[in-house]
Amino acid sequence: MTEDSARLGACSAASVLIVAVLVAGNGLPGQGPPRFDSGRAWEHLRQLVAIGPRPAGSAAIEQSRKYIKDQLAAAGVTVAEQAWEDQTPLGKVHLVNLIATIPGDRKDLRDRIVVSGHYDTKLFRDIRFVGASDGGSSAAFLIELARALKGRRNPLTIELLFLDGEEAVVEWQGTDHTYGSRHYVEAAKRDGSLRTLRANVLVDMIGDRDLRIKRDSNSTPWLTDLIWEAAKRQKLDTTFVADTTRIEDDHLPFLAAGVPSVDIIDLEYEPWHTAKDTLEAVSARSLQVVGDVILAALPQIEARVSR
Ligand SMILES: [Zn+2]
Repeated sequence: MTEDSARLGACSAASVLIVAVLVAGNGLPGQGPPRFDSGRAWEHLRQLVAIGPRPAGSAAIEQSRKYIKDQLAAAGVTVAEQAWEDQTPLGKVHLVNLIATIPGDRKDLRDRIVVSGHYDTKLFRDIRFVGASDGGSSAAFLIELARALKGRRNPLTIELLFLDGEEAVVEWQGTDHTYGSRHYVEAAKRDGSLRTLRANVLVDMIGDRDLRIKRDSNSTPWLTDLIWEAAKRQKLDTTFVADTTRIEDDHLPFLAAGVPSVDIIDLEYEPWHTAKDTLEAVSARSLQVVGDVILAALPQIEARVSR
């Protein structure tokens, strides 16, 4: 090969690359699919952690609710409060789920995919627990995902569900946990909106610097497959690993009600439920990985539930 033909070869390789980028981006540069911006998510995480411990029923969680609602409003996303009183081992607690809705193209807007996560932090009296990964990461992630999805053409309505009261008030046993998800599912059963809920993608503790997410055997297999296949396509299968674990979390009430659900969680986190679950233990990169994978899996999830 002469120098000239080599240059020509390099040239056409470059144009093939450009075409491939355009096809993958589904349009012209700047009009591609939405991007999850972990810089923005990190700022939300920083703000939430700065509020301090945010257990259910506290003044601090009210403050974090205000922050979440203000951020969603700034992104042009509608948010509703679902408030109730629940009986806990420490008496009655005021709880509030936040339901953000991004209407889809379908005529029936109730047909929806939910992406959920908890925003409360576990109550500790002996330590200052700010829950950077446990409670903070999921809430910060959902705020940024709402902004990203608002700029996307969504075939189905997407609901970002900020759950309160995931944590046990005292100890994870009986009904002392997952207050928000249980309440949401019961209310959706009563008002008939549960049967239009096609899938639920739950995120929890996704901030870990050394993020490693195992498949959860309680989760719906096909939904888990779609997420893990998307991770593989994105070459992020070093984070979404093939190992399996079994997790009890906010997805269980949905599964019990027949809603396909998957839990994306890294529970092997050394600072879990300690004073060390702070900004130093988490990273923006981890939030980016989960954002990239969920956005990459979404078209497949939408196609599957629309069948
Ligand atoms: Zn926890």
